[in-house]
Amino acid sequence: MAVGVLALQGSFNEHVAALRKLGVKGVEIRKPEQLQSVNALIIPGGESTTMAKLAEYHNLFPALREFVKMGKPVWGTCAGLIFLANNATGQKVGGQELIGGLDCMVHRNFFGSQLQSFEAELLIPKIAAEEGGPPSFRGIFIRAPGILEVGPEVEVLADIPTPSQKAVNFSPNESQEENAGSENNVIVAVKQGNLLATAFHPELTADTRWHSYFLKMVSDTSEDASSSSISQSTEDQKNFKPQLYDLPIYQQQ
Ligand code: GLN
Repeated sequence: MAVGVLALQGSFNEHVAALRKLGVKGVEIRKPEQLQSVNALIIPGGESTTMAKLAEYHNLFPALREFVKMGKPVWGTCAGLIFLANNATGQKVGGQELIGGLDCMVHRNFFGSQLQSFEAELLIPKIAAEEGGPPSFRGIFIRAPGILEVGPEVEVLADIPTPSQKAVNFSPNESQEENAGSENNVIVAVKQGNLLATAFHPELTADTRWHSYFLKMVSDTSEDASSSSISQSTEDQKNFKPQLYDLPIYQQQ
């Protein structure tokens, strides 16, 4: 199984390292033709305007759109989520080109500037049910986008209280459970068919459950993956014990 990681800018090295932990090679993608050698793609976080300019310079947009349309699994984290959205707001003047495919409206820098970056415990019922481990995940939000609206095909995997409720402690406590799915929450992780998107950065944590979840999407859709490489990675995932760790960045008050 070869998973491409768009390597124009941003946290692509961290995704490659997380894949390596799970026994999968991450292939750095910088040119359109390189997409032919991979059966899935991760679009990392970074700065979406810069990334879009670089993608345009390297003439990557047509090949990226084709990759999405072919039904190959693509996971966008943070700026990568913005790339995958059909609609974005809060963009710089003139906007930026998007790949599209994900039926949602994303708000760039929804949580504010770099200084408003924060960490939050997110309830992730579906991921925990499929990948095991604790019911929550430490989400790292760095100038993160928020998903304001989703289409009917989109499955919501995680949400958190909106900044207007900053007084709410971002931890998996009762108040968050009560709020789950409510209109006061903003969506931060979704899946739509072959597309996965997270507003936060799983690649900056030691908990690889989002990566292993994505790899299962890849092995479910990949016809070419040899059965031995699938069973090896399934074996790795079975043996993987998620660790809780702390990466102090900013704590939302
Ligand atoms: N807000 C950034 C952007 O619009 C994304 C931040 C990130 O990827 N960490 O590109």
